[in-house]
Amino acid sequence: MSKTGLYDLDYAYNPYAGCYHGCRYCYGRAYTRHEEVAEAWGEIVYVKENAVEVLLEEVRRARKGVVGISTITDPYQPIEAEERLTRRGLEILLSSGFEVSIQTKSPLVLRDLDFLSKHRHKVDVGITITTLDPVVARLIEPRAPEPAARAEALRKISAEGIDTWVFLGPIMRGVNDSPEVIGGIVALAAETGSRLYYDFFRMKRGLATSMSLVKERYPEAMSTEHGWRMKVVEIVEKLCEREGIPYEPAFPMRERKSSLLEYF
Ligand code: SF4
Repeated sequence: MSKTGLYDLDYAYNPYAGCYHGCRYCYGRAYTRHEEVAEAWGEIVYVKENAVEVLLEEVRRARKGVVGISTITDPYQPIEAEERLTRRGLEILLSSGFEVSIQTKSPLVLRDLDFLSKHRHKVDVGITITTLDPVVARLIEPRAPEPAARAEALRKISAEGIDTWVFLGPIMRGVNDSPEVIGGIVALAAETGSRLYYDFFRMKRGLATSMSLVKERYPEAMSTEHGWRMKVVEIVEKLCEREGIPYEPAFPMRERKSSLLEYF
């Protein structure tokens, strides 16, 4: 467990280094200490084999708080089906008085639904949905589960009475910034009683190369232009207000640290 400055979290539990989903926009690669993992993002995943033993020690000493599961990689990427480090971590944390906030793109989280449901007052689950279009999703998130599977997972989790949220991000210019695309995701949040967090593309080390295929089809995908962002914020806010769902930028300005490094 490491301390984190991420909004609403006290700690982060990242049992894996690297993420098989290999999203082309992922800036997690800029925050791993393993150069080879950063350079071949999505192709190398290290398993922290003693994570559970270390966590058992840490929960005895640490002040209770909210633990982000995970913050730099997807806690339910495919290796989790075999290693179960996320599951075992959840068991330890929830039985030791901690709360957890899970964020994933994978329906593998449903494997733990019974358990999460039992602890629903100490759990929230966020599902990242950047687009509901499977072709676009395949381009930008080549090995992540399809959006329809994520949407279905969100419905099932919400139906258990667990607090849910949708992470709409990163929003990229020309890729997923239209009222139609955003409207579909907002409607899903409304259907499932989820709140919505949104965020924009951030330029980080290694992304110029990994985004090259996306840029071939969407030349402005890496834009961070202020005027464009403000227009999209307006679209998000109007749509959320129309549907009556709570929304927030994922990294509110009032909580913004001087660099993202402080978050991770
Ligand atoms: S699922 Fe999340 S952590 Fe994994 S590659 Fe995609 S954005 Fe990065």
